[in-house]
Amino acid sequence: DIFGAERKNSSGINIDIRSQWQPFSAQINTFMTRQWRGGAIINGELVSEGKSLEIRSPYQQRTLVGQVCWTDEIGVKKAIDSAHSAFAQWNSTSVEARALCLEKMADLMESNTPELIALCHLEAGKIIQDSIDEIREAVDFCRYYATQARTHFADALVMPGPTGESNELYLQGRGVFACISPWNFPLAIFIGQVAAALVAGNTVIAKPAEQTTLIASRAVELLHQAGIPKDVLHLLAGEGSVVGNAITQDERIAGVAFTGSTDTALRINRSLANRTGAIAPLIAETGGQNAMIVDSTALPEQVIKDVVQSAFKSAGQRCSALRVLYLQEDVAPRMLELLKGAMAELTLGDPSLHETDIGPVIDTNAQSMLRNHIEKMRQDATLIYETAIPAIFGSECFIAPVAFKIDSMAQLESENFGPVLHVVTYKASELDQVIEEINNSGYGLTLGIHTRNETTANYIDRHVRIGNVYINRNQIGATVGVQPFGGQGLSGTGPKAGGPRYLFRFATERTRTINT
Ligand code: GLU
Repeated sequence: DIFGAERKNSSGINIDIRSQWQPFSAQINTFMTRQWRGGAIINGELVSEGKSLEIRSPYQQRTLVGQVCWTDEIGVKKAIDSAHSAFAQWNSTSVEARALCLEKMADLMESNTPELIALCHLEAGKIIQDSIDEIREAVDFCRYYATQARTHFADALVMPGPTGESNELYLQGRGVFACISPWNFPLAIFIGQVAAALVAGNTVIAKPAEQTTLIASRAVELLHQAGIPKDVLHLLAGEGSVVGNAITQDERIAGVAFTGSTDTALRINRSLANRTGAIAPLIAETGGQNAMIVDSTALPEQVIKDVVQSAFKSAGQRCSALRVLYLQEDVAPRMLELLKGAMAELTLGDPSLHETDIGPVIDTNAQSMLRNHIEKMRQDATLIYETAIPAIFGSECFIAPVAFKIDSMAQLESENFGPVLHVVTYKASELDQVIEEINNSGYGLTLGIHTRNETTANYIDRHVRIGNVYINRNQIGATVGVQPFGGQGLSGTGPKAGGPRYLFRFATERTRTINT
């Protein structure tokens, strides 16, 4: 089992995925045939007028998962009006009350795990292990931000001052926060942004990716059930070009948390800058052109396990995923032999089956963009290996894991968000060029380093401009509160999600001085 049945939870304890999943398997099945309804939720009401769409599974396009209804500029205005009026009251509720809502949400997600797993399979094409990890991460975000809010928001910091004067510094919500989230972590990132914004005292309008509207709708229902007032949190499901634009142009939006492509983040930034009204912060977590550097002292079996996980887990649809593997020339032939062997072991298939390693990519658009890139690579690069796709697949959104040898990272025009690995070989004397090439990409999200030479690891680590560096392990699956996650440069603004400073950017700082 190349992806391993075990992972560590946030306390570093190994959990066996099978033991988490098996007790639920019968219940998950009961949800696999359900038809869901979702869409925009404004003031707690599921909006029913607007563009109606059928949601089909990326695994089997003929499987209808449910119906959603998308909203437009009118819905955006209505939601912002309501969130704007609700702000003062929500911002003045106690931090404890807000933190308790998040903890209740964590409990609700745990008690609804079978349904959420089924939704992750059906709407997002996620395999079992990824679905469990997804729910776990969403739960961890809620509990972690609840704790962080109690630590940083509940009490004011007492500042020094002359005799006869008292000075305090404290944090409050900023206003209406927009949370714009991606389809690749439809529950975890969605919940992470929304929970942080809410617990900091903001009211929220959430705009989920079009592809995963049902998961977001269910999450919002649960958040309301957990005690978040209906005018405090609204879901604006709809097209990015309509709903997203209307949100970022509204001058009442006091801040935006966004995870997605670098291009979209730049567009949001421009839109916020062109509005009249106050200056709003943008928290952007974007793409990467993530590398791993492997030198001749690295342990080959460990390297290949970590390469395969980093490049192909979740069908490569993680912004942390490995895209360019730098192999020191002396060990490259042996490493590539092992890589081919490991890629041959990967099983593509039905995401709800335990033996499946790789599920579908999210939709036919993603599939055709990846196919175009792969075709280009077939011309411009050397194929190392391509995993076989079982014959039964036809129109489903599968992309087989594939590896190409290229000359340099500069050969890649953009991030390719799928199971495509590029390999570059380098000579020991060229390490500085490798580092320069990585820094020159402008991205700075994750980097893997495999070496048993501590001096080399430290040298690389000191010279790269990367948010998350992983030494002698895989480079995906940052754990909340353990590896705060987020990059620099083209990869994002920070602060890191799941880290102790994340909530600060959602807040405004105030001081209070009393002449006593
Ligand atoms: N936090 C995830 C990880 O460490 C990636 C998040 C993303 O793809 O946006 O793998």
